[in-house]
Amino acid sequence: MKEISVIAAGNAAEAGQLLQEYPQSVLMAGGTDLLVLRKLKLIAPQVIVTLKSAPGVPAVRQEADGEFAIGAFATLSDIAAHPSIRQKVPMLAKAAAAVASVQVRNKATLGGNLCLMSRCWFFNRSPFWRTEFPDCRKASGGDRCYVVPKSRKGCFALQSGDTAGPLVALGARLRLVSVRGERIVDIEAFYLGDGIRYLDLSAGEILTEVLLPPPAPAGAFVKFRPQDNMDFATFTLSVVPPVGRSGARIVVGCSASRPLRARAAEKMLDAGAPAEEIARKTAEEARLVSFVRGPVDFKKQVIAARMADILAGLEGQPQ
Ligand SMILES: Cc1cc2nc3c(=O)[nH]c(=O)nc-3n(C[C@H](O)[C@H](O)[C@H](O)COP(=O)(O)OP(=O)(O)OC[C@H]3O[C@@H](n4cnc5c(N)ncnc54)[C@H](O)[C@@H]3O)c2cc1C
Ligand code: SF4
Repeated sequence: MKEISVIAAGNAAEAGQLLQEYPQSVLMAGGTDLLVLRKLKLIAPQVIVTLKSAPGVPAVRQEADGEFAIGAFATLSDIAAHPSIRQKVPMLAKAAAAVASVQVRNKATLGGNLCLMSRCWFFNRSPFWRTEFPDCRKASGGDRCYVVPKSRKGCFALQSGDTAGPLVALGARLRLVSVRGERIVDIEAFYLGDGIRYLDLSAGEILTEVLLPPPAPAGAFVKFRPQDNMDFATFTLSVVPPVGRSGARIVVGCSASRPLRARAAEKMLDAGAPAEEIARKTAEEARLVSFVRGPVDFKKQVIAARMADILAGLEGQPQ
């Protein structure tokens, strides 16, 4: 392996400065994905900038208007166990607890989960395995996609961080800091929907905080995987019920290059349509193309079945 320098930054602005200064540099938070990517020779940074926490950014902060801010460098174990998060945003606590294993969650951060590189069976493999598929657009800059062979451009690698879906459902915004200052983006717009350029995150930008509007109804989160092991999701479902007759959110996560809002199904939920129809509509409108982690028809059937379960469970929930 080539030599690599590791530089510990003192704060987010300094980390941003270092990332700009060194052209082949990456930010490492918990390192639970980044170090695997390096080992598989999918990235070859010369400099790793580490930032264990962002000083001045507490793990959880509540504003007077009820807005809730969560530091991006909080570990997933801390998020899953935090009393205020469990009470006010239980969907997020549940999603954090569903990631990998306790060992991974003790290192992995919320920011790393949201910025996790999109994944594909033809990409997240050893260099030897990849020689069988040499023209993958993402892995080698080639001109083929083995998932959607007829496609002329684009990559369909899957957004895979479990916490993204619930945060889209909750209408979160993200604070991004760089040497140029800071900007706040809506999390839905943060995911660009292409497996190669999958985040609206410029070089040297650091996600420091996740901002949540005043608490919505508790909602529901489900992670589906064929076995209850430490595997990535086949899909996630995040549902926020309406307050009165508006504000419902339904998000299918981890099954396309961005979390997918089921907008027509949301309108049906607002209008009080029968649960089975909403469940069917959610599966129907989810634009799935990738057979990675299961055939599309199978995923749609299970999405409809799990949505029906979720809606039945939400019926008795206080709003
Ligand atoms: C065995 C195993 C099982 C796993 N299972 C799951 C699973 O079930 N579900 C799941 O969601 N994930 C899973 N993961 C992936 C990964 O561990 C988690 O997504 C984790 O949350 C990543 O966080 P991290 O802090 O370790 O990120 P890192 O590995 O440090 O970074 C990941 C990426 O995010 C970028 N990044 C990190 N923090 C920031 C920031 N604050 N601002 C900007 N960019 C940033 C890094 O530059 C890098 O590109 C698994 C990993 C392993 C090894
Ligand atoms: S979706 Fe296609 S282009 Fe993207 S990593 Fe997979 S095979 Fe390669």
